[in-house]
Amino acid sequence: MKFCICCKQIVYPTKKVNWILLMLLCLITSGGWVVIYIPYYFLFKGKKCPICNGNEFRD
Ligand SMILES: [Zn+2]
Repeated sequence: MKFCICCKQIVYPTKKVNWILLMLLCLITSGGWVVIYIPYYFLFKGKKCPICNGNEFRD
């Protein structure tokens, strides 16, 4: 649990998957997106506040 600075609440930061982007990638690359998206998901996607979508937290 973290304290979200943006909405001033204790929240549980989550990683959100962008399903629309995934579906588009599916259509465009016919499966090849997995190779691109999985490294992107683990390397670049930060955890976000589920309430305000902010990404600044304090312990
Ligand atoms: Zn928040």
